[in-house]
Amino acid sequence: MVKVNENYLKLEKNYLFINIAKKVNAYKAAHPEADIIRMGIGDVTLPICKAAVDAMKKGADEMGVKETFKGYEDSGAGYDFLREAVSGYYKSFGVDVPADDIRINDGAKADCGNIVDIFGDDNTILITDPAYPVYVDSNRMSGRKVIFADSDESNGFAAMPDENVKADIIYLCSPNNPTGSAYTKAQLKEWVDYANKNGSVIIYDAAYEAFITEDDIPRSIYAIEGAKTCAIEMCSLSKTAGFTGMRCGYTVVPEELKAKASDGSEVSLKQLWNRREGSKFNGVSYPVQCAAAAVFTPEGQQQIKVNIEYYQNNAKTIAAALDELGIKYTGGKNSPYIWLKCPNGMGSWEFFDLLLEKANVVGTPGAGFGKNGEGWFRLTSFGDKDRTVEAMERLKKILA
Ligand code: PLP
Repeated sequence: MVKVNENYLKLEKNYLFINIAKKVNAYKAAHPEADIIRMGIGDVTLPICKAAVDAMKKGADEMGVKETFKGYEDSGAGYDFLREAVSGYYKSFGVDVPADDIRINDGAKADCGNIVDIFGDDNTILITDPAYPVYVDSNRMSGRKVIFADSDESNGFAAMPDENVKADIIYLCSPNNPTGSAYTKAQLKEWVDYANKNGSVIIYDAAYEAFITEDDIPRSIYAIEGAKTCAIEMCSLSKTAGFTGMRCGYTVVPEELKAKASDGSEVSLKQLWNRREGSKFNGVSYPVQCAAAAVFTPEGQQQIKVNIEYYQNNAKTIAAALDELGIKYTGGKNSPYIWLKCPNGMGSWEFFDLLLEKANVVGTPGAGFGKNGEGWFRLTSFGDKDRTVEAMERLKKILA
């Protein structure tokens, strides 16, 4: 008889967004006239830029002509034109990542989950708490031991390495979802030094790097000396260029990154990753890769900047309201997320209910992202400008 992967049965039920939807729907049914403003879900709302749309159309046209039609892409790693464009993008902020170390994917979520395939199940996994839930689930699905590093008010939601804690694989996300905090170069250097010293690998999620505004916050872990011997980086066009529905991202596994097999021999993680992807992934569609490459042209960069600034201005609106109310928060500056301390010692869900019922505003209870999220709350700047202003007016009215 078939045996299931019992690790799935032990996964924590992730009801966060289901519970939010249930509560909002119940409220709407009881108050059909309520004008609800949604600031909870981390999806973008602005359309993809013209350069990307034009390139995608051109790519689609090429698929309909015999001479330019494309079938399977040879390696599934991404067309050279896009891998070179990503490499050039890294160069634009002073980081050297060769095209050959980059693989194009259909968004960062899949690779965040899939990367675990190249590591043994007996590794100890360290994840900052609170965190993007994919890191925990994808490791627990293969029965790995997961331990947590506390990101909390005492360290500005930026957990730092502890020499007394031994971890083999470390997940870092900066700028962070959900807390909006971002590691400085000096902080990230401590993690890189820890990983190199202990033979650990850092899985670095840079999905929100495009929102960084401060010079001291690195856009890539490879801006830190020594990172290439200990870090894999994942990035995505989802939030950078509104590609949540297009699906395109990239993962970097540096040539320099090696691990030891049980017989003591040195193994290239890039080779293992290429092997894994070669067996299980056939690449991203050509028109989408054309659109992605257009994002990295000067025209595309100019156009996505306009959208990012729109969201950054929403973040400023939220931050200004919280400043006025004297509410503590992280994020907003280098991130589309604002992570606020629930006022008057309220719990995350208690504050959710208050906001929904008294202001008709929906956010995300921090408790859904880990134990350190209790008492905290996530608002996103991905909404409409006028609605964000209106939501903050309502917040000020109920909390003043
Ligand atoms: N990493 C983080 C931290 C995220 O918040 C998200 C999406 O919300 C992703 C990765 C995955 O994004 P995508 O699969 O759309 O590239």
